[in-house]
Amino acid sequence: PAWENRVKLSAKPRSCTGHTVLVTGAVGFIGAHASVALKRRGDGVVGLDNFNRYYDITLKQSRKSKLVDRAGVFVVEGDINDEVLLRRLFGLVHFTHVLHLAAQAGVRYAMINPNSYIKSNIDGFVNLLEVVKSTIEQPAIVWASSSSVYGLNSKVPFSEKDRTDQPASLYAATKKAGEEIAHAYYHIYGLSITGLRFFTVYGPWGRPDMAYFFFTKDILNQKQISIFEGPNHGTIARDFTYIDDIVKGCLSAIDTANKSSKKKGEFRIINLGNTSPVSVHKLVSTLEKLLKMKAKKKVVLMPRNGDVPLTHANISLARMELGYKPTMDLEMGLKKFVKWYLDYYDAKKKSSW
Ligand code: NAD
Repeated sequence: PAWENRVKLSAKPRSCTGHTVLVTGAVGFIGAHASVALKRRGDGVVGLDNFNRYYDITLKQSRKSKLVDRAGVFVVEGDINDEVLLRRLFGLVHFTHVLHLAAQAGVRYAMINPNSYIKSNIDGFVNLLEVVKSTIEQPAIVWASSSSVYGLNSKVPFSEKDRTDQPASLYAATKKAGEEIAHAYYHIYGLSITGLRFFTVYGPWGRPDMAYFFFTKDILNQKQISIFEGPNHGTIARDFTYIDDIVKGCLSAIDTANKSSKKKGEFRIINLGNTSPVSVHKLVSTLEKLLKMKAKKKVVLMPRNGDVPLTHANISLARMELGYKPTMDLEMGLKKFVKWYLDYYDAKKKSSW
């Protein structure tokens, strides 16, 4: 009963117009930010996360403390593959929306643990869709796809109608599979589903496996950093998108989702990017400037498996459908990340004394 009460309390919106949202992957980078933003604006929020060990678990625990203590979001520790748990949650609470962010992320780890991608990104997604499908008032689903579905497509900027049949990694393949699975559930059961293709999301409380994060760490520790070339000897560039812009896009996707109670659901796929790709060299020089330190760079004249040379979003659809308008440029966004990084790791150092 204590557990049930905490779930119900956390799920209660602050006003009658507020939504009740289940956020999966809630102690992940994007999930933690989105949960706080939803709660702050008055929505009821319940978080779910299996606290996987893909990266530093203490960072996830810190995000959880932030969610629980500062925002009042209750986080259930559990797996999206656990059907009994999901049915229990959906039995306790009438969720109006699911913001589904739980996934095995990362491109390179797929070469080490391919099954974790199948388990979370495909099996887990299907399990969630099955449970949603069988609830009486089906919540609308907003979920994370990825710019990686554009794969080896060389036509930039990427727009939603472009081909996505050449994934360059198993991660990308599972995200693409997710889109097709979601479409089938929309088509057969009339679910309301929006897939958001995020483009390289960065910011405070970010993911330690991403380049901007470990470059910062390595520059501070004066460790050598390797800069890999893209395919065909080009430089790698990414459409870095700041976390607050992505969160605004997620919230707007929730607000504009067509509820399936209107009989027929809907299926949307929308890019959320920044529309200004930045090369890895520029990323490093910006970090050098902000940290006031020189990086020990080693340029590796060889592309890495799974990398695509360039990502660049066309965001016309997001503008139209979601009123999405990214506002943060890379230098400003990295400044906020670096400030968080220095504060967070300094506080950790002090607390371990
Ligand atoms: P993250 O790894 O920080 O967050 C994912 C969270 O999901 C983690 O906390 C993990 O413990 C949890 N999780 C994984 N498998 C689970 C399972 N089976 N059951 C319950 N919880 C599970 O990653 P993130 O960067 O916050 O990404 C969130 C979503 O956005 C993911 O779907 C990711 O693929 C997608 N995405 C992220 C980016 C990016 O640049 N960060 C880009 C494109 C797409």
